[in-house]
Amino acid sequence: MSAALVTHEVLNQSTPLVGANLFTGNRALQDALRFNAPALDTARLAVLGAEMGSAEMQQHARLANLHPPTLRTHDRFGRRADEVEFHPSYHALIGSAMRHGLHGTPWAQEADAHVERAAAFMLFTEAEPSVLCPISMSYAVTPALRANAALYADWAPGLTSTRYDGRFLPFDQKTGLTMGMGMTEKQGGSDVRANTTQAEPAGEDRWGQRYRITGHKWFFSAPMCDAFLVLAQTPAGLSCFFLPRWLPEWCDGGGLNALRIQRLKDKLGNHANASSEVEFHGATAWRVGDEGRGVPQILAMGALTRLDCALGTAGLMRQALSIALHHCAERQAFGRRLVEQPMMRNVLADLALESEAATALALRLARSIDKTENGRDEHEALMRRVLTPISKFWICKRGSAFAQEAMECLGGNGYVEENGEGVMARIYREMPLNSIWEGAGNIMALDLLRSLRSGPVAEALAHEVSPAKGAHPAFDAMRERVLHGLDGATDEAQARRLARDTALLVQAALLRQHAPEPVFAAFCAARLGEGSDVFGALPAGHDLAAILERAQLH
Ligand SMILES: Cc1cc2nc3c(=O)[nH]c(=O)nc-3n(C[C@H](O)[C@H](O)[C@H](O)COP(=O)(O)OP(=O)(O)OC[C@H]3O[C@@H](n4cnc5c(N)ncnc54)[C@H](O)[C@@H]3O)c2cc1C
Repeated sequence: MSAALVTHEVLNQSTPLVGANLFTGNRALQDALRFNAPALDTARLAVLGAEMGSAEMQQHARLANLHPPTLRTHDRFGRRADEVEFHPSYHALIGSAMRHGLHGTPWAQEADAHVERAAAFMLFTEAEPSVLCPISMSYAVTPALRANAALYADWAPGLTSTRYDGRFLPFDQKTGLTMGMGMTEKQGGSDVRANTTQAEPAGEDRWGQRYRITGHKWFFSAPMCDAFLVLAQTPAGLSCFFLPRWLPEWCDGGGLNALRIQRLKDKLGNHANASSEVEFHGATAWRVGDEGRGVPQILAMGALTRLDCALGTAGLMRQALSIALHHCAERQAFGRRLVEQPMMRNVLADLALESEAATALALRLARSIDKTENGRDEHEALMRRVLTPISKFWICKRGSAFAQEAMECLGGNGYVEENGEGVMARIYREMPLNSIWEGAGNIMALDLLRSLRSGPVAEALAHEVSPAKGAHPAFDAMRERVLHGLDGATDEAQARRLARDTALLVQAALLRQHAPEPVFAAFCAARLGEGSDVFGALPAGHDLAAILERAQLH
């Protein structure tokens, strides 16, 4: 070989992480599943895990993000089109998510279906998170939509079908359907009572009370969904409406509904997904639930998309951790592999603790959905109410810091996009979204305070975390502090602190029950005591080797 060619040799660069089974390699996820759904057959998750780690899926994710959706407002004759076009890889990804039943299928199944779907959602996130936006909304819509039985009867088969249909057609001509939601307006997002969009009664038909909707939505994601739940004002107050993209034949002869897509948002990340601004020009919609009860009605949907924000962040954390571990196992610096450098071991182990704690909390929340949708259980109902805001708050709040630290493990390569190959950069851009949409951090902390009025929450939490009582001094001290703090808590200025501490307490109790002792001990020491604002500051004396061995994608 000539001397000139030798300079082009690539030395000491890590290989891409490809071909791993993301399920069978993830011990933390498997242990959390055994704890939350002991009877669950995980064979389908193993199949999904192999598909999500494949080169083919990675290529689809790269292309769908590299070629973002484009808006076609009119056809060449000037007629309204209001259509968004996607790269074929987007359709391949969303088709796979529906084939694996990540959208509506748990509603057509029984015990453990929501836990299984939660694990599947995490695994899919590791392949591509942004196509999961319409998938998540389609999953979440069912409890709200059931309030209009006639509508639900017509739409449920399409919403639970595993046959994706990307064509822009009326619902009764498609093999599978998706749904979105429209709450946020320019003048108010969190405070939806400020919505100005108006609904005027326009008769009654087989789907119930019909209305004409006039107004706008400032954030309207996945506008190619087949229908949306939207909020609009009636004389009785804010109400919830079902608004399809196409009208059925029996409604004024059918045709496109009067929903105009103004433009697509230019977003930090989430590039494969379209988020739009829309106007309703007397669009036809049907009421779902009572007039004036729009907020609780749509929050039945919002609570489940909040679950998905927590699951999605836990999935992204796991993906970032796997990439960091893989890189550090192959890259050498200062005479040994990075994973052998003592300080890097501390960083990686600390990230592993965070990832496992996020997985544990998100799946525990999913169990409460199963237990309350498939039967009545007072304790699980309280857990569902309180774990939703704290999981969304804390797991998502940790996401961005986690992604930054995992990126740093790759050094300069972590920051580089390189034609969409830089997965760490994509993860980093995606992370803040889960924290903002569907109720930003403060809104979640306020919702924790509200949840305290739903029943004896402190007692239920005391019962929930009792298996870890006495297992670690820092746990016992935190337990006292949280349970005392929850009692009659109303101080908004302290609500974030309470949300964080409650989440940490529940995470520690879960780790005690389904993670090895070194994980629990290090988590208690690093998170429940004085706490630390930087990853990689685990105190001395912990079994980092055991934590790192468990975290490897085996
Ligand atoms: C990519 C993307 C996609 C989205 N898709 C959709 C969609 O499909 N449908 C939809 O309806 N919306 C969607 N949203 C909107 C999103 O849900 C809102 O942006 C979010 O709920 C916050 O509302 P806002 O932007 O109006 O901010 P604001 O409500 O103005 O909030 C700004 C800040 O103030 C804080 N705050 C608000 N009230 C209080 C209070 N009382 N005390 C303390 N702090 C407070 C909030 O926590 C936040 O940090 C999307 C957003 C993004 C970024």
